[in-house]
Amino acid sequence: MTDYVIPPPPQATLDVAGSSKKFPVRRIWCVGRNYIEHIREMGQDERAPPFFFAKPADAIVPDGGTVPYPSLTKDMHHEVELVVALKSGGINIPVEKANGCIYGYGVGVDLTRRDLQIASRELKRPWEVGKAFDASAPCGPLKPAAEIGHPAKGRITLKVNGQVRQDGDLNQLIWNVPEIISKLSEMVALEAGDIIMTGTPAGVAATVAGDKLECEVEGIGKLTVTIGQPKK
Ligand code: MN
Repeated sequence: MTDYVIPPPPQATLDVAGSSKKFPVRRIWCVGRNYIEHIREMGQDERAPPFFFAKPADAIVPDGGTVPYPSLTKDMHHEVELVVALKSGGINIPVEKANGCIYGYGVGVDLTRRDLQIASRELKRPWEVGKAFDASAPCGPLKPAAEIGHPAKGRITLKVNGQVRQDGDLNQLIWNVPEIISKLSEMVALEAGDIIMTGTPAGVAATVAGDKLECEVEGIGKLTVTIGQPKK
């Protein structure tokens, strides 16, 4: 047994629907722009290839959890996304082999400090301050692909305090899940435990302390989180 000089940090995990077992999270990857209406609302190039950024694994917030309103921002946005969890990985994974790497699917939120993200972009600086902050990756329980297969369509929604704000369909993904896995595996070696947030449909907007976010991907699952007061 390794003798650590400090206690090792806890393993980040996701719940598995209908099971007491946990899915261990290694890395969180996110796809930048993957629904046409969201690209239009952000004023970006509709024909650009997919690009990726990361969040720390310990940014996960489970279903029913609270996200303390983060520091430094006045414009935190919600981005509801399909989450893909990998049971295996590799490099240069062919599109036709990508589904074989998938353990299951869930629904997550790519919380974004939009003001800081846009400021970084304009200064040509990295996006971490806007994307990779504490509690920035709420994620609901996974549904195993062994139970539900590999859904290519299904309504994806996010409500704030009961009002629908984002409403799309997985069939609107510009780059589908196998294409995302294949492309990402050209950039880094993927491994079991990696999860991928696959991009958000239109309707992103600010969320504030006290808001209840209810997310759902039809056939995959739900996620409810509350935005709380800032940490003191
Ligand atoms: Mn996103």
